[in-house]
Amino acid sequence: MESFGTPGLLARTDVSAHGEPVAPSFERATSWAFPSRDALQAAAGDACPGRFYPRYGHPAGLLCEAKIAALEGAEGSLLFASGMAAISGTMFAFVEPGDRIAISRKCYGGSVAVGEHDLPRFGLAVDWFDPFDLADVERACAAGPRLVHIESPVNPTGRVIDLAAITAVAHAAGAIVSCDATFVPPPLQRTLEHGVDLAIHSATKFLGGHTDILAGCVSGSVALVRRLERFRRRTGAVLAPESAWLLSRSLTTLELRARQHNDNALTVVQWLAGPGTELGVARVHHPGVEGHPDRALAERQMSVLGSVFAVELAGGAEAATRFFDALGVFHRAISLGGSESVAALPIDGSHRMVPKDQFEQLGFAPHAIRLSVGLEPVAELIGDLEQALKR
Ligand code: PLP
Repeated sequence: MESFGTPGLLARTDVSAHGEPVAPSFERATSWAFPSRDALQAAAGDACPGRFYPRYGHPAGLLCEAKIAALEGAEGSLLFASGMAAISGTMFAFVEPGDRIAISRKCYGGSVAVGEHDLPRFGLAVDWFDPFDLADVERACAAGPRLVHIESPVNPTGRVIDLAAITAVAHAAGAIVSCDATFVPPPLQRTLEHGVDLAIHSATKFLGGHTDILAGCVSGSVALVRRLERFRRRTGAVLAPESAWLLSRSLTTLELRARQHNDNALTVVQWLAGPGTELGVARVHHPGVEGHPDRALAERQMSVLGSVFAVELAGGAEAATRFFDALGVFHRAISLGGSESVAALPIDGSHRMVPKDQFEQLGFAPHAIRLSVGLEPVAELIGDLEQALKR
């Protein structure tokens, strides 16, 4: 197991400094003053000024971006107002009219919606592909995409995509690869190490971790992040300073939280997939389940196996509703990655636009329940699932 403590995350002040705040203080200003026209012009021309005008970057954002870059092992990172602002910004920032974008069919519904409704309106052709079928990836890449967008692990099955294999095909076709890695945060998922160019997160989930920040981020090389920053500066989807400051604080405990989420989840998965099946559990979608096809790949790309996964009940849709309504510790809500455990029905939320007959293609039943395992005592979580299953 890797050691705890990501360089650059904790100590930010010189420990021998006199009277410096140990924790970062928060600047609310939206404008900073300069002693002369020359000084103002120099500040405006700065590559990424932190004390000029906050749409260009601000102190809380720059600090938070440095922390995310350290976690991702990236040269740079860029914050956005939401995960979707980060994803759509990435899809639009690197393309020219007439370009093609290849998108995995196994993506968050919001990403699919941008591919179906927005990219084509701007003259961008979208080639959809199945990320578990390398021949299909090759077919989509043969069309010559500028960008290939994937997501791993996949919502809500927790299936893991072979990042290195897809990236090799995409790079051979001259494409940039972006990966929505929201389901397993860094440093536990090493997205960039496997060849991906841009690692994207809905920071609303694990990075924020306390169900109180809406944010997104993209990390990669200086060259790509700089291009994206110019796009963000022009279009304005920067993260507000207060959210960036809160997110910085969350990042300090990210690895600790994420490890505990995963330890709890594995215990829950082993219970659900174990002799508890007499309680009517038909299928648990998680790489920790005996014989799961993605187990080796998951272990190669991540230090954990994920804490968000789907469960199917033998009693079908009716049993799923009864189980869902009976939960007393898991919250009935959307979203994931917070300290509170959450149960969600993909058919009502992330996949509500998917026709029922297409669920099989996506690899899960329409009545599947998605669980995001939180930081509560794991015995309480299992107790809650057990009493709800007994209904
Ligand atoms: N990507 C994934 C995998 C998600 O689950 C979500 C939201 O649920 C998003 C992106 C969008 O993030 P946000 O809601 O922060 O815009």
